[in-house]
Amino acid sequence: MLKTIERNGGAPVRIPEGSLLIDGDWRSPSSGEFIDVFDPATEEPIAKIAAGSSADIDLAVQAAQRTFESSAWQKMRPLDRGRLLEKLALLIERDAEELARLETLDSGKPYYVTRNVDLEFTVDALRYYGGWSSKMAGEYLTLSPFVDDGGTYRAYTERRPVGVVGGITPWNFPLGQAIQKIAPAIAFGCTIVLKPSEEASLTSLRLGELILEAGIPDGAINIVTGYGATAGQALVDHPLVRKIAFTGSTATGQRILASAASQMKRVTLELGGKSPTIVLADANLDKAIAGAANAIFPNSGQVCTAGSRLFVEASIFDAVTMGVAAIADELRLGNGFDTQTQLGPLISKRQLERVSGLVASGIDEGAEPLSGASQENRPGYFYRPTILKNGRADMRIAREEVFGPVVLAMPIDDLRQVKALANDTIYGLGASIWTRDLNKAHLLAAQIDAGTVWLNTHNILDTAVPFGGNKLSGLGREFGSEAINAYTETRATCMRLEAPELD
Ligand code: NAD
Repeated sequence: MLKTIERNGGAPVRIPEGSLLIDGDWRSPSSGEFIDVFDPATEEPIAKIAAGSSADIDLAVQAAQRTFESSAWQKMRPLDRGRLLEKLALLIERDAEELARLETLDSGKPYYVTRNVDLEFTVDALRYYGGWSSKMAGEYLTLSPFVDDGGTYRAYTERRPVGVVGGITPWNFPLGQAIQKIAPAIAFGCTIVLKPSEEASLTSLRLGELILEAGIPDGAINIVTGYGATAGQALVDHPLVRKIAFTGSTATGQRILASAASQMKRVTLELGGKSPTIVLADANLDKAIAGAANAIFPNSGQVCTAGSRLFVEASIFDAVTMGVAAIADELRLGNGFDTQTQLGPLISKRQLERVSGLVASGIDEGAEPLSGASQENRPGYFYRPTILKNGRADMRIAREEVFGPVVLAMPIDDLRQVKALANDTIYGLGASIWTRDLNKAHLLAAQIDAGTVWLNTHNILDTAVPFGGNKLSGLGREFGSEAINAYTETRATCMRLEAPELD
């Protein structure tokens, strides 16, 4: 079902709604129930998506399993799986503007971001994994058998796809996250059921149309929208699903890990963060100030690696925090279709309430706002970019992920102290260090307990670079060659060779 919405004079946005992609067909949800979708910039209802149930998940998983077991899929050459991903990349490029507009409508983020960041990442990720499809290699091993029975032993290993993957994604980079699960699954020979976030499913559904157009075999990629507690949990619990690739909050990740344990399902969990931005006194001040602001404010802070704790050496603390506050004050919030807009709204009323509540708790505990700390007086889930000073490590806002445009600043005296403070968190996703001293940069980076440390930059994510979290920020890594391990198992074959005439 497609409906069309006009937005700001540009090309109309076509909205796919109300159906599930199962076994190459668009189907209505078995429950007959739908979820209202709101434009976060206006709070207007714009569409309805299907509330998929466990029955729909079962149909989708059964289809994915049939396709996985089919001889056509098993015999498909790796290069041909790569070609399918390339076809999809070409179709996404063809429709990039429309997809970007749809993402802007659904998630609120500015069009220049959805077009130049989300869509570019999506196409690159498809091509990147398309290339990997033909590079799954094993090893050839010589054995030292403890029983000499006159034979000669050899063994080889190969990487085998795990089977049906359950991909579960959040709402902050909806299309990019969908592809982050789909592309490696298909490249490495798995099939997949995707359950996008109920807060932002529209581009995943539009992707479904392109998947059909690309000629990807029926059942290889299925898309079931719906709530986490029903559709998501059913996917996690389904016995035919061999691996869960999850991106979302730590609380949900913990629940998924517990559920997956009884069936020994493979999991990769990309979870929350409380990433530190560390500015040392010798840093290039202008770049560090812009960098600290850029670490937290883009996508209205709804970035898992957002630099939400700012540690600055005391001698430059005021200069850096005032500089970040000045940038925050100048950022223009608005509808993502307005070309002047630099920051869009938060995704939902619930998220707006969470961000406001956490900032209020920080102020109650003694933090002082240098900018923002307020909602905008208009429709839409807008929150002003905020920097708070007088932060302390024991404050709730220093410990919990805000997932909004809010940074808590704390002065530091030396490297030993910043190392302790930066690591004083349940999370371990990202960190950045701003300094011109190579010794300090590398020695401190090595002591930060995080999956990624950036030096004089922040939030650089690339499919070529393995990504994931330590501690409660996750389990396993995605991206780069690490994805091979995430989507395949090693199979070892052992053989006995015998040719007496050669003895
Ligand atoms: P969320 O955990 O609420 O939801 C994520 C997905 O899980 C959604 O599709 C949801 O429907 C589903 N879900 C919820 N309960 C479920 C259950 N019981 N079983 C199965 N699925 C279930 O997260 P969110 O609010 O959508 O996203 C924000 C969070 O995602 C933040 O914590 C952010 O840090 C994290 N995130 C992490 C990364 C990363 O790569 N580390 C990237 C982006 C976002």
